[in-house]
Amino acid sequence: MSYFDYNATAPIRPEALEVVVEVMQSVGNASSMHQPGRKAAHRVEVARRQLAELLGCSPGEIIFTSGATEANNLALRAAFTVGSPLVTSPVEHPAVLETARTVTAESPDDLVLLPVAADGLVDLEALDQVFAARRGGVVSLMAANNETGVLTDLRVVAKAAREVGTLIHTDATQVIGRLPVDVTDLDIDLLSLSAHKFGGPQGVGALYVRRGSPLPHRPLLVGGGQERGWRAGTLNVAGIIGLGAAAEAAARGLGEEVERIAALRDRFEHLVTDTLPGCRINGRPDQRLPGVTSITFHGVPADAVLAAMPEVAASEGSACASGAPTPSHVLLAMGLSRVDADSTIRFSLGYATTEAEIEHAVRAVKRAVMQVRAALAEPDGPR
Ligand code: PMP
Repeated sequence: MSYFDYNATAPIRPEALEVVVEVMQSVGNASSMHQPGRKAAHRVEVARRQLAELLGCSPGEIIFTSGATEANNLALRAAFTVGSPLVTSPVEHPAVLETARTVTAESPDDLVLLPVAADGLVDLEALDQVFAARRGGVVSLMAANNETGVLTDLRVVAKAAREVGTLIHTDATQVIGRLPVDVTDLDIDLLSLSAHKFGGPQGVGALYVRRGSPLPHRPLLVGGGQERGWRAGTLNVAGIIGLGAAAEAAARGLGEEVERIAALRDRFEHLVTDTLPGCRINGRPDQRLPGVTSITFHGVPADAVLAAMPEVAASEGSACASGAPTPSHVLLAMGLSRVDADSTIRFSLGYATTEAEIEHAVRAVKRAVMQVRAALAEPDGPR
């Protein structure tokens, strides 16, 4: 099996697995005052420091959540106020888009969707027009798209937004642990992430909130007042500690890892597209995450190709939408036809991807695409 679905979830890193198992074998609520409780609380604070180190912020700026979905909900619900703009884009993950639609349901004019170009880049020049007409509010743009890997220039966003007093949120779920990020340097207010995308456990994530950011205190969950009142509920100690260990492991040698993964992805792309006619790579090639390629195999349904190569785990559009018969909203927003969107496969690589897996997957993809094309060319169609 070749695993090419890191954007859905990455395999857990051994460093994270080890501490998760260890913590699950011990008792301790991080809010308890006795020794096991204090030990759990101490380990949570170590994880907070490990994540802060990866993000370039201070530990007190991190709120642990159940993942990026919750972090996005928390960020936008806190940052948005009726009567001020919520600026985002049609290629965001549903965890942002649906939250944006929900919070602006009573004031739909507050929701502003920026245009997206055919190469997947959000039109940041349009930001200036938006801000010339409306100030304040919040802008939320993803650091990298989960389907195409296309990156947003957050510096440009932050510069335009700061000048007009607009809060800046980014869903950086696909970028953290995969490209170096420094939130302080980027000058953003809010950032969401999920541990399982960089080798931590599933069901845990975080929201970075810049100290001094004028963010009203609007928690989604109230109760015991954990996480400085931002997120009530017993802390997921094992998950958080696993997140911390994964953050530390991801930070180690990140620069070289970026190069290695980009080289593997480029090799995969060349080997597939050079020998298979009728392929197109989606998304701006020089402004993408290193480990992602979105390939349209013209005239070949992606579900048939995936079924013909069970030895390769890749994905049709985004995993969050799989099972639903709707085509990818990201690819449609980039102007792909429905047929092309349905003929597109996302391959995503990561820290444990090997050269042997690339060779194996290339052979499997070629064989599967040719097999499906041949079946479709038969007079009676596919059998
Ligand atoms: N944002 C992006 C860009 C994602 O790719 C994902 C995961 N598919 C999420 C948010 C949601 O993350 P989680 O399901 O871990 O909450």
